[in-house]
Amino acid sequence: MPSSRRRWTLTRTFAVVSTVTLLLLGASLILVTVRVIERQARQDGTESAEAVQAYATAVVPEQAFALGVLDPSTDAAVQAAITGFGDRLHRLRLWTVDGALLFDSSRDETGFPDAVRLDAATRLGQTDARVVTEVDGAAMGATRTTVLDVYLPVQGAAGTIGAAQVTLDYDEPTRAIADATRTVVLVVAGGIVLTWLMLFRTVRNASRRLQVSARDNARLALVDSLTGLPNRRMLTEQLRRVLDEAHRDGTHVGLVFLDIDRFKDINDSLGHDYGDTLLQQVAERLHGAFRSQDVVARLGGDEFAVVLPDVGSVDVARRLAERVRSLFATPFMLEDLQLHVDTSVGLACLPDHADDASSLMRRADVAMYTAKTHHLSVAVYDPDDDQSSPARLVLLGDLHRALADHVELAMYYQPKIDLASGRTIGLEALMRWHHPTRGLVPPDVFVPLAEQSGLIHDLTRVALTGTIRQLARWQADGVDVPVAVNLSAHDLTSPGVADLVEELLAEHGVPARLLQVEITETALVADPVRALATLEQLAAAGVSIAIDDFGIGNTSISQLRTLPVDRLKIDRLFIADLGTHGDEGSRDVVRAMVELAHSFGMRVVAEGVEVPETAMTLRGLGVDEAQGFLYSPAVPAADLPVEAVGWPTAAPTPATSATRTGAPGSATPNGTDAAQPLKSDEDRPDDGTGSRARRTPRARS
Ligand code: C2E
Ligand code: CA
Ligand code: CA
Repeated sequence: MPSSRRRWTLTRTFAVVSTVTLLLLGASLILVTVRVIERQARQDGTESAEAVQAYATAVVPEQAFALGVLDPSTDAAVQAAITGFGDRLHRLRLWTVDGALLFDSSRDETGFPDAVRLDAATRLGQTDARVVTEVDGAAMGATRTTVLDVYLPVQGAAGTIGAAQVTLDYDEPTRAIADATRTVVLVVAGGIVLTWLMLFRTVRNASRRLQVSARDNARLALVDSLTGLPNRRMLTEQLRRVLDEAHRDGTHVGLVFLDIDRFKDINDSLGHDYGDTLLQQVAERLHGAFRSQDVVARLGGDEFAVVLPDVGSVDVARRLAERVRSLFATPFMLEDLQLHVDTSVGLACLPDHADDASSLMRRADVAMYTAKTHHLSVAVYDPDDDQSSPARLVLLGDLHRALADHVELAMYYQPKIDLASGRTIGLEALMRWHHPTRGLVPPDVFVPLAEQSGLIHDLTRVALTGTIRQLARWQADGVDVPVAVNLSAHDLTSPGVADLVEELLAEHGVPARLLQVEITETALVADPVRALATLEQLAAAGVSIAIDDFGIGNTSISQLRTLPVDRLKIDRLFIADLGTHGDEGSRDVVRAMVELAHSFGMRVVAEGVEVPETAMTLRGLGVDEAQGFLYSPAVPAADLPVEAVGWPTAAPTPATSATRTGAPGSATPNGTDAAQPLKSDEDRPDDGTGSRARRTPRARS
């Protein structure tokens, strides 16, 4: 690791610098201390020398210095005066100012003073002490003695009269100094070593701690603190590694993206603590459900990801992705609150959908949004869902053109049947796109495309204009059939759609009661305040309102009570179940919906009725209206069953619910064995739903 190398260099640099510094410091300390000891010793010696001089000169008359001669008795007196100093005094010599020897304790009559030192003592009155090593005897077996040689001025009444040269034995102090120096060196060296060790230890420990915390920080930067799962950064790194291996070994890699449906609502309504607990529980379930080589990560917010190395095929990956979804089947326990939470799961695979980490991640994300918007359990990446895929961009361009040209987009109409009377009591207008090269493009493809790209208002305008024009035509023919137009959630939350409806109705002279609008629950949840304003304006104008795809969202009927809603259209998910041996659960749900809706004065419509049994069941449950392939798919106005638009038919149409739902083996549920000219199957435009369109009499458009 480069950081640990850096840290080691740091410790070593510290070691070198601190050693040099401490050595210099120690040396200076020793030097200064030794100097002080030496100076102190010399000071002591000088004081002794002064005492010797004082004793000696006390008995010498001043004239002796002037004359340069000492009489024998004085000489003896001086000798006697200094005997008290014993061996410590090596030698005493008294000099006159001129350098004549007045007295010498060693009785050597010859000799000269050190002229410079004598001069300094006699003329400047300075005391000068010097340590001198004397070697006595021959080179072999010579004895070395160290002495302190001191020149001191001798004061007379009128000033300096001479000098005393006191030579003291200095062996003892020299030894003491050496001992002291040794001790000082030892103490200082020991101290330095100890200090250094302590400093080094402190620095090394600090450096280690730094190293550990740096490693922790690096780890934390890769781990999500709430769930302990790898974070987006680590996921990206791991994914790169896994993809490199897959490229090398030619294996498949799956990348699953998921998020928690309605997590924001949960967070907002229950609080962030609950939200956090939920995220932790989701993390635990995910973590426990995969192999050790799979990487489960939290991408942030309520988004998680699973990298599936070496998955064999897209199908295997899809099964694993479905496992993710099944992990949410058991409700989550947030303290004593039991919470059912759903998830949207998207899957993209290498090499099938992408061949590098960033596009694989983007595509898994696209798939996840597809799952969310289409209420799929698991969505595998499809380039058609990808807003930025070239195919999608081309289609978007085509939609622009189609919306401007008014040629390729057409309104088809699907009848709504009154279950009690069996009569057609209205139509739903559904848009169709006849694409010049792709053929019929279903609205499930282009409506979301328009919503995502801001073209939805143009699309709604086309739908409303086409439908209201058709209503005007029927009006002119004396046909009085209400038609429902689908509005997108985006229409409700941006201003203008209610004004547009009023304008178009007025322009074409169509009474508002003939127009219905269908809106989904999501439109109400997204921005309830603005949605309500639009709905109220529409209702005030006389337009009736139906809630579409009811039951798959989370709105309750009682929430709708305050809204100006006339109809509830039960989603075909519930209806499909009714046909198959009459699923009890769905039956109960539908029954409850019907009862509640009726109690609020709403009519109930069932969509997606495909078989007579379903229609019968629905009638039994009290559902008011039905719509579905059983009666007719959405067809162009010109192809509507005559009965649907109230056109007088040549042959009677026994359109009772009994014949529709009851006649065994009847291939034509509305019983139109009509004598009207029939349109051939070849002529009939495919409605894009793949249903078998029944032969029906042609109506005028
Ligand atoms: P929707 O409003 O729920 O429309 C009902 C859909 O169910 C239609 O699909 C219809 O063809 C289909 N359907 C009818 N009977 C049956 C049946 O018995 N079985 C089955 N399996 N399906 C049946 P379509 O026309 O493909 O439209 C799909 C969706 O696109 C519509 O769902 C609606 O949400 C949207 N859409 C269609 N036209 C427009 C439009 O002009 N404006 C807006 N904003 N959305 C539209
Ligand atoms: Ca609808
Ligand atoms: Ca619907």
